[in-house]
Amino acid sequence: MADPIQKLILELARLPGIGERSAARLAYYIVKASRSQGSSLARDLAGALVQVADSIGLCHQCQNFCTGGKCSICNDARRDARALCVVEGVGDLRAIEHSGAFRGRYHVLHGALAPLDGIGPAELRLDEMVERVVADGYDEVIVATNNNVEGDATALYISRLLAERGIRVTRLATGMPMGGELEYMDQATVGRALQERRDIAS
Ligand SMILES: [Zn+2]
Repeated sequence: MADPIQKLILELARLPGIGERSAARLAYYIVKASRSQGSSLARDLAGALVQVADSIGLCHQCQNFCTGGKCSICNDARRDARALCVVEGVGDLRAIEHSGAFRGRYHVLHGALAPLDGIGPAELRLDEMVERVVADGYDEVIVATNNNVEGDATALYISRLLAERGIRVTRLATGMPMGGELEYMDQATVGRALQERRDIAS
C-alpha cells in the first residue's frame, strides 16, 4: 500500500492554487490533528467530502449546486421573480449574495464561451437559459460574467439572444473599485471607467 501521508499530499495537490509544498503543509497538519486527542478534523473533513460527492447535484431550474432537485434560492418565494442574474460559476453567485445588493434569481452557466477550448453555446446550454427567461417572464437579465475576453463574449452572445425577444439585458459596471486611487489604476480600468461614466444622482 502506498504511504497514506504521501497519498494525501498528492490528492491535496490536485486542488487549484495548492502546490506540492502547501499540500504537504496541509497534510501534516491533518495528520497531526488526527493524532491529537479530541480532534475530529480528519474524520469531519472526510465526512464532508463524502457527503458532497454523494449528495450534491444541480438545481434543475438555475443549475446552482444543491441537494434534492431545487436550490434554496429557487425555493424562496420572497425572491424577486422579475430579475435574473446570469453568472459563470457558483462562486460568483455566492459573491453577489454576500453583497446583499440583489434579491432576484440566478442562472449558473458553469463556464464562459471559449471556442478554442471547445466551449460553445451548446456546452453552456444557452438556448435552455433563454427558454427559461422567456417562459418565466423575466423583465431584466443581468449578465454578471467576468470582465475578460470569455466573459465579454458570453455577455455579448446572451444579450443578442435576448434582445431579439425584447428582454432588457444589463451587465455589471466595471471601473474604479471601492477605495481605489485613480493614479494607481491600470489603463484598461481607467478607460472602461470613463466609457461607463454616468450622471451623478442628485
Ligand atoms: Zn436554483
